[in-house]
Amino acid sequence: MTVGSVMAPTVLPLAPRPMEDELLSSWLSRVACRYDLDGGALRGLLTTPGGDAEGMASLHGLDYRPAREEITALAVAARLPVERLSALALARAHPTWPRHWFAWDWGALDPTNGTERYADALAPGWCELCLSEDRATGRHAYLRRHWAHAAVGFCHRHRLPLRHLCPFCGTASLLQFVPSDGGTRLYCGDCGRPLDEYATASPKDAATARPLDDDHPIHHAWDVVMAFETDLCRALDCRIPTSRWMGPSHPTAFIAATEDLIVALTVGQGGYPRHHAINAFDSAAFPSPGRFRSNFDLQYWACCVPPARRRSLLAAVVALLLEGETGALLSETCIGSYRWVASLDWLCRWVRDDQRAWLVVRSARWPELLRQRLEKIVGEAFVMQSAHRVREASVQRHKGKAPRTGKPFPETTPESPPSKSPALGLPDAAHYRRLAEEILASPEWLAVCHAPLAVRRSTLHRLSEAALAASRTPRAVKITGG
Ligand SMILES: [Zn+2]
Ligand SMILES: [Zn+2]
Repeated sequence: MTVGSVMAPTVLPLAPRPMEDELLSSWLSRVACRYDLDGGALRGLLTTPGGDAEGMASLHGLDYRPAREEITALAVAARLPVERLSALALARAHPTWPRHWFAWDWGALDPTNGTERYADALAPGWCELCLSEDRATGRHAYLRRHWAHAAVGFCHRHRLPLRHLCPFCGTASLLQFVPSDGGTRLYCGDCGRPLDEYATASPKDAATARPLDDDHPIHHAWDVVMAFETDLCRALDCRIPTSRWMGPSHPTAFIAATEDLIVALTVGQGGYPRHHAINAFDSAAFPSPGRFRSNFDLQYWACCVPPARRRSLLAAVVALLLEGETGALLSETCIGSYRWVASLDWLCRWVRDDQRAWLVVRSARWPELLRQRLEKIVGEAFVMQSAHRVREASVQRHKGKAPRTGKPFPETTPESPPSKSPALGLPDAAHYRRLAEEILASPEWLAVCHAPLAVRRSTLHRLSEAALAASRTPRAVKITGG
């Protein structure tokens, strides 16, 4: 980009004003459509006259943190104060939000450098009722900034899921602004129909139509997840979220726990029929947009998936946190003949040993009550697992066979691909295997091996708690993730 090469600023005779909550790319596209151009082409003409305007023919990179020179050129062209335009940039409007809490285009992802390349192309959703209101009130249709938040999958004004596919033709083609009655309307670039029209069209598709009955369970499920989204946005703004989800929570701890649970839901488990825990979540309120498959190791999946998948991820997190009746509302109750209710306990049983250990290590940065809850679940699971192995060894001794000792965790699961955990910050599974072997070989444990089960359980619980505490110290476990 040779923004610095701007020589003689162009001044446009006609340039609509930006809305306060508008995306920069949306504003520039609205301006461009007055001249029968698309936003990328106008950006090239205004910011690189005589230069590589061809190479600039996209809106990538404009919304997040545009260069000062570029904003100045655009502001001069539109006869606007520079400040008014720069206030629209995402990094400026939400200075405390990490880049991965905005919605980026999966199609532009470069798997070799996933964390940076996808961050150039924004992928906002839209609400057809908002677009329809724009038209009814004689406003230009425009894309709201919060439609590009990865923490939001709904229009909170109309309490409706955001769209990213054209409801008429089902494609995810480029959106087009078209001049209409002195304003602009947003059209599907593929089938050419105005997207606001769907608000009055009928019948609706079941996935995103709001049921008429206010007491409908789907309303309740959506409202719960919208309340979580509100708290997530509060936390990203460095404000204290409510204690409904994780108990009293510092904003940073709230976000850390949410991010880690999304990782645990999307990281592959290999040995299970559905491979990724998130594939077990498919409910009437949050229908799964197809089977989740990850070809790449990405930590921040929520930022580069369509709104439907994002809603499903956030609903799954909420189901794990709330469990009980609400958890059941947000997740289906059976997968084939397998009946289940989402819970943190279920997640811990689903994931592999190294992934469970990773969760325990990461939970050091979670809100305290949630951390304790996980520790209790993992501690109990560890005790049960170890007690089972000791019983098995005892049976083997009775049969006169050498006891099978020293391998509390399997080396590898035959169906599992080699662990990609280091890329996600998972610690080495071998470390936890060693840890467990040390516990089972310790003099204290050997001394109670023939004691009653209750005594063995309490001793093992104490030893495993000490081991878990040790695993949370930086010396014992190396955390490689961000
Ligand atoms: Zn709306
Ligand atoms: Zn269409």
